[in-house]
Amino acid sequence: MSRVLVTGAAGFIGSHLVDRLLAEGREVIGLDAFTGYYSRRTKERNLESALRSGRFRLVEGDLLDFDLDGILDGVGQVAHLAAEPGVRRSWGRNFPRYVARNVVATERLLEAVGEGTKLVYASSSSVYGSDPGHPVDEGHGRFPASPYALSKLAAEELVGLYGRERGVQGTVLRYFTVYGPRQRPEMALSRFLFSALRGRPVDVFGDGGQLRDMTFVSDAVEATVAALGAPVGVYNVGGGTRASVDDMIQTVRKVTGASFEVRYGPEAEGDVRSTWADSGRAERVLGYKPRVGLEEGVAAQAEWAARALVAAPA
Ligand code: NAD
Repeated sequence: MSRVLVTGAAGFIGSHLVDRLLAEGREVIGLDAFTGYYSRRTKERNLESALRSGRFRLVEGDLLDFDLDGILDGVGQVAHLAAEPGVRRSWGRNFPRYVARNVVATERLLEAVGEGTKLVYASSSSVYGSDPGHPVDEGHGRFPASPYALSKLAAEELVGLYGRERGVQGTVLRYFTVYGPRQRPEMALSRFLFSALRGRPVDVFGDGGQLRDMTFVSDAVEATVAALGAPVGVYNVGGGTRASVDDMIQTVRKVTGASFEVRYGPEAEGDVRSTWADSGRAERVLGYKPRVGLEEGVAAQAEWAARALVAAPA
């Protein structure tokens, strides 16, 4: 079987994907630039187990300037997860970085991969904007509510373009809020858990009523592995569990047993009110079925967060 290249391999979802591919015996090349917005040490820890495998090669490099020809030899499948994520900071002076890391970097990768290469692009539910009060399927209109969402949509369009014009076998997965061990430190659940475990107040953007379709990371990873071997297309990947921010906080209380103050502040610009996936197409074509519910998933993340605090106390 051909090698798999995972971009963004040291990140939250990328590192789980690497572990999963190694577990099924694949040879994996992981590319990551270790970009500065959360700690390099955290990302190195994400890859601790992968780096013990003789079938994993980590390449430190930036898609924006790395000579990709050197690592694409024998690669038949690419999972492209490298990106500048995060809605809140994508406005204003940061926008050029989002364009570079999400749009220009994707174009460089698409230029480099050969015709016939399977490439799965990690897109986001944010391309839809807020849901209209019912689950959205892939045909729903795209109304990005932040520069981040716009940059993900632009990259999706590039994947489509290189499919039509250059024969790249591109699939787009639209992940809905992914959570679980290794979640990025600025994401809501991660902030809530670390604050709760440190006995500090939990800060919420907005009134706590925002709803998210929550996807446990192993479910998102299963969808990604399935997509690497399935017909090209655009697929929603939702977790089948909708929770409000206040529900997340209640679940954090329940699984950690911690008591903490909750402080509500202004809404974050670009945060949509609600997301709701119709993942029917992924179920039918990819055999996708989310397996981990909210309480089980938050408990797994809490366990990981507690261990991370012991390893690197703040
Ligand atoms: P993450 O920040 O943990 O991982 C992204 C990784 O990409 C980082 O390790 C970073 O160093 C690397 N990277 C960034 N730019 C790079 C470049 N130019 N060259 C090489 N490496 C680069 O983020 P994540 O939460 O794991 O997200 C992974 C992907 O999934 C992203 O594309 C993101 O937009 C998408 N996504 C995530 C979620 C979520 O809930 N976490 C939801 C929807 C979509």
